[in-house]
Amino acid sequence: MKFDTVIIGGGLAGLLCGLSLTRQGLRPAIISRGQSGLHFSSGSLDLLGHATSQTLDAALDTLTTEEPLHPYSLLGKNAVLDYARQTETLLAECGIAMLGQVNQPHRRITPIGTLRQAWLTPPDIALAPQQGERIAVVGISGFIDFQPHLVAASLRQTGVTVEALEIVLPQLDVLRDNASEFRSVNLARMLDDGEQWRSLHAALLPLATDYDRLLLPACFGLQDNSLWHWLNETLPCGLALLPTLPPSVPGIRLHTLLQRQFVKNGGVWLAGDAVTDIAHDGQNISAISTRNHGDVPLHTRFAVLASGSFFSNGLIASREGVFEPLLGLDVLQSAPRESWTRRDFFEPQPWQRFGVQTDTSLRALRHGKRFDNLFAIGGVLGGFDGITQGCAGGVSAVTALHVARQIAELAGGQP
Ligand SMILES: Cc1cc2nc3c(=O)[nH]c(=O)nc-3n(C[C@H](O)[C@H](O)[C@H](O)COP(=O)(O)OP(=O)(O)OC[C@H]3O[C@@H](n4cnc5c(N)ncnc54)[C@H](O)[C@@H]3O)c2cc1C
Repeated sequence: MKFDTVIIGGGLAGLLCGLSLTRQGLRPAIISRGQSGLHFSSGSLDLLGHATSQTLDAALDTLTTEEPLHPYSLLGKNAVLDYARQTETLLAECGIAMLGQVNQPHRRITPIGTLRQAWLTPPDIALAPQQGERIAVVGISGFIDFQPHLVAASLRQTGVTVEALEIVLPQLDVLRDNASEFRSVNLARMLDDGEQWRSLHAALLPLATDYDRLLLPACFGLQDNSLWHWLNETLPCGLALLPTLPPSVPGIRLHTLLQRQFVKNGGVWLAGDAVTDIAHDGQNISAISTRNHGDVPLHTRFAVLASGSFFSNGLIASREGVFEPLLGLDVLQSAPRESWTRRDFFEPQPWQRFGVQTDTSLRALRHGKRFDNLFAIGGVLGGFDGITQGCAGGVSAVTALHVARQIAELAGGQP
C-alpha cells in the first residue's frame, strides 16, 4: 500500500493534519489505535489561556522570549495566529460550529463550576454568567458524573444567583441496573432519540419559568446538537450544557465530525490498528508496519507522528526515563526522576512538558539529527504544558496545519 502521507494517531492533531492535507489535494492515511484525548476532553479548544492579563499578541511575544522550546515559539507568533485562524475556517468547513475566535477569548464554565478561558467552544456549552443572571444547575437523578451542588457553589462566587436542582427521568431507569452504565454517553444514546425529547422538556418546563438559564450536564448531543436547539426554542428560558466527567459527549461529537469529514474528503481511516514498527533508511522513513497489516507495510513519502502524550502511549515513562516507543526519538525531559513532579498537585508539573524534540519545521530529531520526512505534531511534542498554559488544543491545531502546509508544498499539491 502506498500513500503520500501516513499519519500515526487519529486524535485532534492527526485529524486536523489529515483534513488540511485532503483540502490541498493529497490522500493521506490515518492509523488510529483507539480513543483519543477528545473522547475525554471538554470539547472546547484553548489557544493560550494565560493570555488573560495580556493580549494574545503580547502573550505570544513573552512566550517566545521566555520559552524558546514551546511549539508556538518554534513556529513564531505570526504563523501561530495564521494557523489558528485557518483552523477556525477548517472547522467551519467541516460543519463544526464553534463560538469564539483568535484575539477574542471567552470564558466557559468547567464541570466544577469554575471559569476557564477558551478559544473555541461548542455553542451548546455554557459560557460565563452575565451579571444579575439567575441560574439553575440541574442534575439528573442517579447521574454521579456531574454534581450540581458543587457547580452551584463555585458559580455563586462569581456573584450570580445560582440554585442546584435535580430532575427525575424515569425513562433512564433501564440503565440503572448497572451503575457503570449510567454514564453521559449512554444517557445521550437514549435522550437523543426523538421519542424522548418531550419527556425531557416536560421535566425541565416547571423549572424554566423561574430562571434566566438552566445548566444541564452534557448528556445529549452525541451526533449533533439538534435537541439542544429544540429545547432552547421551546423552553421559556435559555439552556446550556456543562461537560461532565469523562467520557465526554461534546468531545466525542467533535471527533466524529472531524473523522467523517476526513473520510468524505477521500482520506483513508485505518481504525483500530496500531503502528508497530517504522523502517528508515538513514534519515528517511521508508515503510510503516501495523498490527493488522502484518508483513504488508505501508509505503509513504511523508510520515506524521500524532500519537499523543502519556495518556495515549505516544510517550512512555519507565524507571530509566521517558521515551518515545516507535523510534526512540529525542525527548525533552528533566533528570533526575525526583524533578519530574512537584509535591503540590495544583502546581505546574514538569512532566507535562516532556515530549518529542523537533526542529522549527517540526521534523523529529533522533540522536540530535532530524528525519527528512518525519514530522511530529500535537500532544507528543515537548516544551509546553497544555493544562497550565491553556494551549493543548491550540498546539494540536497549529502544529497540525504547519506540518500539512509543508507536506503539501513538498508534495507539489495545490496550496
Ligand atoms: C480530560 C481531558 C480534557 C481536555 N480538555 C481540553 C480543553 O478544555 N481544551 C483544550 O484545548 N484541550 C483539552 N484537552 C487536550 C486535547 O484534547 C489534546 O490537546 C488533544 O487531545 C491532543 O491531541 P493529539 O491528537 O495530539 O493526541 P491524542 O488525543 O492523545 O491522540 C493520539 C492518538 O494516537 C493514537 N496512537 C498512539 N500510538 C499509536 C500507534 N502506535 N499506532 C496508532 N495509533 C496510535 C492513540 O490511540 C490516540 O488515538 C483535554 C484532554 C483531556 C485528556
